[in-house]
Amino acid sequence: MRQRTGKREDDVTTTDAVVIGSGPNGLVAANLLVDAGWSVVVLEEQERPGGAVWSDDTVAPGHVHDTFSSFYPLAAGSPTIRGLHLEQDGLEWVQAPAVVGHSFPDGRWGVLHRDRHDTAAAMDADTHGDGEAWLALCETWDRVGDDLIRCLLTPFPPVRGGAGLARQVLRPGGFELVREMLMPARSLVEKLFRGDAARLLVAGNAAHADIGLEAPGSAAMGLLLVLLGQSVGFPVPRGGAAGFSGAMVRRLQHKGGELCLGEPAVGVRVHDGRAIAVRTASREISARRAVLADVSAPALYGGLVAWDELPARLRHRMQRFEWDPSTVKVDWALDGPVPWEGAPDVAPGTVHVADSLDQLSLTGGQVAAGLVPDRPFLLVGQMGVADPTRVPPGGEALWAYTHVPQRVRGDAAAGSAGVRTIHGSWDDADLEAMAERVEARIESRAPGFRDRITARRVLGPKQLEAMDRNLSGGAINGGTAGLHQQLVFRPVAGSGRAETPVSSLYLASASAHPGGGVHGACGANAARAALWHHRLRTPWRRP
Ligand SMILES: Cc1cc2nc3c(=O)[nH]c(=O)nc-3n(C[C@H](O)[C@H](O)[C@H](O)COP(=O)(O)OP(=O)(O)OC[C@H]3O[C@@H](n4cnc5c(N)ncnc54)[C@H](O)[C@@H]3O)c2cc1C
Repeated sequence: MRQRTGKREDDVTTTDAVVIGSGPNGLVAANLLVDAGWSVVVLEEQERPGGAVWSDDTVAPGHVHDTFSSFYPLAAGSPTIRGLHLEQDGLEWVQAPAVVGHSFPDGRWGVLHRDRHDTAAAMDADTHGDGEAWLALCETWDRVGDDLIRCLLTPFPPVRGGAGLARQVLRPGGFELVREMLMPARSLVEKLFRGDAARLLVAGNAAHADIGLEAPGSAAMGLLLVLLGQSVGFPVPRGGAAGFSGAMVRRLQHKGGELCLGEPAVGVRVHDGRAIAVRTASREISARRAVLADVSAPALYGGLVAWDELPARLRHRMQRFEWDPSTVKVDWALDGPVPWEGAPDVAPGTVHVADSLDQLSLTGGQVAAGLVPDRPFLLVGQMGVADPTRVPPGGEALWAYTHVPQRVRGDAAAGSAGVRTIHGSWDDADLEAMAERVEARIESRAPGFRDRITARRVLGPKQLEAMDRNLSGGAINGGTAGLHQQLVFRPVAGSGRAETPVSSLYLASASAHPGGGVHGACGANAARAALWHHRLRTPWRRP
């Protein structure tokens, strides 16, 4: 593949498909199209590929930090990504000794181990009976998990193939599992388990999405992540997340695709209701067959495609599009491991920090009410635990991220002694204050943590968006995962598939069904829709 950077003058190109954006969804789409024999040009605004799947060593020499995403159970569980056989292009998955840990204020831990029986034993040690409930859940997953994943990752409503899958999911136990996924996470964990360890393991994973724990559908992410975590782990690419994107780029390269870095798309040309070309600052690339946009829905509709080319009802519906909350991420280089109190014997790569189910609910409520949480829920990654090649001997590359409101109306910690108030402009002072709050939270669980910090980087909403335009205002999932914007409501009512009102134009990003996370399904659905429509238009060329 030609990998070009820089701008070119008066250059006009013709290709079968243009993919706008080289995030995981764009790269999966491009790979599937080249597999079908199409010529493909991928345009990427940044000087590097990968979107929110990237890593760098700029925090401190010898410490590789994942710049954005880190743990890839959804990729490991995704039939499409598995089908790319990226290990042939250099991807190597590695796993932490334990999958996820939940740290409680009194030094107790909930631990999702690699082996389900170890997880069950740990849950039973916390509260007798929870281990049995866990094993029963795992057995249901054994029966329907693969089919359920395939169903979730295919276009909605499932027209071809998907209908058959849906029938399989309704096998014994599957129907009940689907119902449980539609429950509020809080009701589900209170129904399934009696102890904090099991409850918080599921609820903490549910909090990866932005659905309140009391809202229907919030259990889905919790169950999906813990059950995937139990079956495929929370793998990370050896050497850093860039190795994952790099493998997808290399695969594309071998098959003749072209990636143009530092070349943002500025518009999609539409003729007679069909997308026919993509404009950049210096050229126009004709797309004979399709344009696939790995950009957010608000950036595509009324942005790359002018409203004049789109139905009025779409404009009306897009006014109701809802972003997911914003994010602040802190990366640290440490000269030793995190000195967690009561640390489990088997170290988890991912750690969740929340005091209790109630506190997790309260934090979510604060974000929903526009308040910066006073005791933020932390998702923590111990990357040296998961992959020792990323750190100098004995060191640690740690990160934590937490969600804050898109529009800050106040700070829940305002007036608390010794705590700096955050105003929501996310200037240096706000970022510094948020980083201190996050550090204080870890220090309370791991006394001596601060003494081990040798370098720090804070990425707020503005920095995240500057490094990847799809992370608008610090949103990480291409729009809320709330039920009202899922399935046939993603990104707006009446969608649910990659097709757009413009013929030959497909929405391939996390703004499309099934949403955020690195599973490649949005890109795969877009590529398959493009291939299908092309076959319908040119039936005489079918083999
Ligand atoms: C801090 C953070 C932590 C996360 N943690 C995890 C995790 O651990 N596991 C997980 O599964 N998911 C995680 N996610 C979510 C996951 O990374 C995203 O859902 C996923 O990357 C979405 O993929 P995408 O291809 O749709 O978009 P992106 O990855 O955002 O890629 C979009 C690409 O399009 C480019 N682009 C945009 N507009 C244009 C244009 N006009 N022209 C050219 N290029 C353009 C961007 O520069 C970018 O490269 C995390 C995200 C963040 C930010």
